[in-house]
Amino acid sequence: MYFIMSLHRLIYLSYARPGIGYTDLRQIMDKSEVNNMKAGVTGMLCFGNNVFLQILEGNRKVVNQTYSRIAKDDRHHSPEIIDFRAIEHRHFGEWSMKLVQLDEMTSGSFRQLIFKFSDVQSFVPETMTAEQCFQFMKELYVLSSVV
Ligand code: FAD
Repeated sequence: MYFIMSLHRLIYLSYARPGIGYTDLRQIMDKSEVNNMKAGVTGMLCFGNNVFLQILEGNRKVVNQTYSRIAKDDRHHSPEIIDFRAIEHRHFGEWSMKLVQLDEMTSGSFRQLIFKFSDVQSFVPETMTAEQCFQFMKELYVLSSVV
């Protein structure tokens, strides 16, 4: 019961350090998969337009610790918490961390998804509400699993 009650979801955005590339993303993912698996953290990391949008799900304390570590990483800057709340169950439970590189997604379905949650044609999470970010990530999770 304690674990169910303490399950939380955190969403934040941040800006990539200039010049960040595939190797950096790969290193981030390799580290995330190991650390998150151990800590029982699941979620998704989107990268596009040089912006990161990440969802972390897990025990409240562990999500806090993970976010605090991430926020200090100099591969990105100006992290901004969009939402942090208690949840009843995970929505991204299949992945210790799933990476979606938005700049590589060019399908019509993906463009429709961007339009659905934002007034602009490209990925600008700064313009999205917490609920829009969550819904966007949920739909992207499904879309990126079938593309
Ligand atoms: P170590 O890997 O031993 O790292 C020690 C220190 O060096 C840390 O301060 C680390 O930030 C820094 N560091 C390591 N490699 C590099 C590098 N190549 N360039 C610059 N600094 C470096 N970690 C998770 O555990 N889970 C996540 O979900 C997660 N998501 C992330 C999302 C983003 C957008 C970014 C930028 C990083 C993310 N990270 C994530 C990585 C996180 O910021 C830490 O680097 C990592 O958790 C540190 O792991 P560690 O404690 O095993 O330390």
